[in-house]
Amino acid sequence: MMSLNLSSLPGFRDGRSLTLTRRECLLGAALLTLEARAGEKGTLLVTHPCGLAHEVGAGRPDQPRRLAAIADSLAAPRFSALRRAEAPAATRETILRVHAPALLERLERAAPQSGLATLGPDMVMSSGTLEAALHAAGGAVFAMGEVMRGAAQNAFVAMRPPGHHATRDAAMGFCFFDNAAIAAREAMRAHGAERVAIVDFDVHHGNGLQEIFWDEPNVLYCSSHQMPLYPGSGARSERGAHDNIVNAPLAKGDGGARFAEAWAEILPVVDAFAPDVLLICAGFDGHLHDPLGGLRLQRQDFAELTLRLMEVAARRCGGRIVSLLEGGYRPEDLAACVAVHVGALSGA
Ligand SMILES: [Zn+2]
Repeated sequence: MMSLNLSSLPGFRDGRSLTLTRRECLLGAALLTLEARAGEKGTLLVTHPCGLAHEVGAGRPDQPRRLAAIADSLAAPRFSALRRAEAPAATRETILRVHAPALLERLERAAPQSGLATLGPDMVMSSGTLEAALHAAGGAVFAMGEVMRGAAQNAFVAMRPPGHHATRDAAMGFCFFDNAAIAAREAMRAHGAERVAIVDFDVHHGNGLQEIFWDEPNVLYCSSHQMPLYPGSGARSERGAHDNIVNAPLAKGDGGARFAEAWAEILPVVDAFAPDVLLICAGFDGHLHDPLGGLRLQRQDFAELTLRLMEVAARRCGGRIVSLLEGGYRPEDLAACVAVHVGALSGA
């Protein structure tokens, strides 16, 4: 007879001690090993070189070097344990589960063979844009699938263009397809998620996500953002048709303490919603030196919020997190912020 502590196994969490035969003990040890392996699923990093081929012209904020800086930063030895995968392209069918066919057709018509095509004040397409946008959405969908099927504990998708401003019908604010909305839809359609929470700490409000999910009780969208600022939406009074939208606007000049307070208000709502997976719109343009934002956040503020979000995910959805790059327009600061975010997600 031997004694074995099985307190980490489901059904044995009350710490009962058991007296077991050797055979039972070996079986228990094997189960413990499986449990330990499940906790070592690790962090998946999803990207694709075509993210660099979306050219926007000099002087515009969403430059390809944003992704290059992130790639350099995540090539450091401390990130060697990350599992890395190429972002596949999203299918038309997947895109059209969120967007109007007219948007996709408009973008396909506007895509230039060479040079740049200007679609609007902040929307520029090069010959590589559509492919990059399809892989940004496809990367989000792929990451969601890997996390939902348990092949990864969590995932970060380092792609551009970003997504949270794109509405059902319109590309805007550097965003072509709403990557987070597309991934949320797939979580529910293909992976059995009943409720998805999307948390967005980009300095801008995710008007696209708010519009797309306004009337969907199974999707919770929560955002902290600077107000007034582009795109102008995101007032506290905008709550969704089912109280499923939470906006916590911040003022220009607010720093880490106010940012943490805003999230201390939001996190209990996410917790009570009990999502099956947590999607993060990880925008780092609230950083102190960002050229577009006026919040005075530091790397550590993003690291601390990431840890708080992980606590909620651990409690409510088995730690399942899919984080998608949104803004952050000073490449060196963006890369440093992504490093602390992915460092927290992966424990690196
Ligand atoms: Zn932004």
